[in-house]
Amino acid sequence: MITIGVDDTDSEKGLCTTYLAAVMMERLSGIGEIKGFPRLVRLNPCVQFKTRGNAAIAFSLETDRPGKAKEVALLTLIELSDFSGPKTNPGLVVAEEVPAELSSFYRRALDEVLEVREAEEIIDRYDLWSRGFKNRRGLIGALAAMGAEFPDKTYELLAYREPKRWGTPREIDEESVWRADELTYPKTWDTVDHHNRKVVFAPHSKDPVLFGIRGQDPEFLRLSLETIKSEPFERMVIYKTNQGTDVHINRDEIARVVENRSYRLRGVVAKEPKVIEGGHLFFPLESEDGKSSIKCAAFEPTKNFRNLVRALVPGDLIEVYGAVKKRTLNIEKMEIVDLAKMTALEAPICPSCKRRMKSAGRGQGYRCRRCKTRAEGKVETVIPREIEEGFYEVPPCARRHLSKLLVRMMDRNVHPSR
Ligand code: ATP
Repeated sequence: MITIGVDDTDSEKGLCTTYLAAVMMERLSGIGEIKGFPRLVRLNPCVQFKTRGNAAIAFSLETDRPGKAKEVALLTLIELSDFSGPKTNPGLVVAEEVPAELSSFYRRALDEVLEVREAEEIIDRYDLWSRGFKNRRGLIGALAAMGAEFPDKTYELLAYREPKRWGTPREIDEESVWRADELTYPKTWDTVDHHNRKVVFAPHSKDPVLFGIRGQDPEFLRLSLETIKSEPFERMVIYKTNQGTDVHINRDEIARVVENRSYRLRGVVAKEPKVIEGGHLFFPLESEDGKSSIKCAAFEPTKNFRNLVRALVPGDLIEVYGAVKKRTLNIEKMEIVDLAKMTALEAPICPSCKRRMKSAGRGQGYRCRRCKTRAEGKVETVIPREIEEGFYEVPPCARRHLSKLLVRMMDRNVHPSR
């Protein structure tokens, strides 16, 4: 059995590492058998080198011709990589036995920004067969994907377009996509965005992906696929993936936050959220001991999620989930743990006729004009809050790949965004 890892073969102009891997697997199936599901592995969403979603692929092949398999894999990589892309630095690694150390390399690749040198050191130490091109950065993702273990997992079915259609508008019958969602949600998710009335499972770029169906169970992905009417697709692959699992999230304290990592942080809203030009919302979150704080953001693309953030007030105790870039946490998900009590001082209500009393004159308290009842001064009344405690998330159109969806957390007090 050999394990193959591949990454960084595409550019903004086109192609896709998952497509390259799909073709590679087809060609390799002539000299062996692909074992289990191939793995679509998302890595640190904060790395600046990524083209889109920082994905890498790994899969296992049962074969008695490992030399031939390496040759086929390499030729496919050379044929289908876009070497012209400034950010395209392909990496391919093949191992007969995956070193145990790769599982911690995977964990680090989710969390830190690694150096190519670190990948090369591991390759040298275990004498792994590898090929890296240009600055060889793809070796990082290729190795990390090989070491990925999924204590929690989901699946994604990717359908790929016929090459003659690449770059043309995708032909997908939207009505059938809504039907597929109706039929398979919550076993599939993020096919459509109900609130924003949008089909969200197909890219708009020139790459070979026709659409991706995400979910909990491969059977439901297939059922969804059967329901969707679209242009013919060249091939499709179901990947096992770490998407939708929160594996990138570190539970930590505000004082210990470092750049380019993703966190779950507990704190108190310190000031009312402020909107800036472009519709982006910001507020400071303070640790419960008041000693540290961090700026939190709900950017414009998070759409209706901002209404919830806008309803927060100073004193609300919350937990925010998201990636920290430029000292700002971009909220992917939030738990409102304890809503602050909002009160206002108002004239008292008359105990007999239940009408609001009027001032009886400066320093003379309040008086009911009808019943003549008197009262000393204003009373504190509770202002009802517009929001409830519980978990909230950004809508499907703004979903981050690794974020665990609330529909996967139904044992909690969740408000899933569909
Ligand atoms: P696509 O989704 O279309 O495959 P992408 O967004 O996955 O594109 P890549 O083209 O794979 O982007 O580029 C990401 C690059 O960053 C790869 O070279 C990968 O090896 C590297 N990389 C991944 N994780 C890390 C990390 N934690 N530290 C440093 N480099 C990383």
